[in-house]
Amino acid sequence: MPYAHGSHAGTARRLRALDAPTMTTDASSLVVGAEGSVTFPVPSFVIEHDRGLILFDTGFAPRFYDDPVGYFGELANVLRIRTHPGQRLDRQLASLGFDTEDVTHVVLSHGHSDHAGGLGLFPRAEMIVGPGELEWARSPNRASARYFRWSEDLAPVEPQRWTVVNGPAHDVLGDGSIIVLHTPGHTPGQLSLVVRLPSQTIVLTGDTVHLREGLDRLAPYPYDWDPQLAVRSLERLALLERSGHRLWIAHDPHDWSRFEPLTPHC
Ligand SMILES: [Zn+2]
Repeated sequence: MPYAHGSHAGTARRLRALDAPTMTTDASSLVVGAEGSVTFPVPSFVIEHDRGLILFDTGFAPRFYDDPVGYFGELANVLRIRTHPGQRLDRQLASLGFDTEDVTHVVLSHGHSDHAGGLGLFPRAEMIVGPGELEWARSPNRASARYFRWSEDLAPVEPQRWTVVNGPAHDVLGDGSIIVLHTPGHTPGQLSLVVRLPSQTIVLTGDTVHLREGLDRLAPYPYDWDPQLAVRSLERLALLERSGHRLWIAHDPHDWSRFEPLTPHC
């Protein structure tokens, strides 16, 4: 195990998913060999802890929620995007009673634009990112360039605010309650997040896996940075699940419904 799962570890008070836009696409564009079409959420998560307020991912850039066609052009219709202005992260946090300045840490699963777009909303947060991710986001190969919006999403964050994970795991608050795991393959710095709550331990997988079928078949995303490493990371997640962690595969609509008490619709 890459981190201590001991009984002495602390816990976070609460984990919630924020209300998320959805897109619709062929399942095969999310998992190699998958069939049919899938309407999937693009979520972010907020974790309350006595010593901080932590976000896992930040969704799209703020302007997306007010005008998805302006943001995506024709692709917004192709992807059948469903969103509304109230889903912008600062507005959602306000409705929960938080200010954007309350956010102490943002854990960025990876730099793709549906995860990194809202970084600029959180002026005081420490930004935690995986090894090699910023370099890859700044200079991706041609096949991956369409997933990043470096100038809009990542470049505006002052360099001194980044914390780059150095090693297989990183204890965010030092008490074992919120542990970043480096699960590379989708991108070089892809991260997952273990969140210990009083009643259960949940692993937020980011894009380490997109649909549960990918975990079941150990089948990667079709356009991963390194598919072999991606499968190794899938194996690692499967091992965590067998050892009692609950995996939340955030882009999987059925996984999402398994966590209903922690989602915004309940
Ligand atoms: Zn991604």
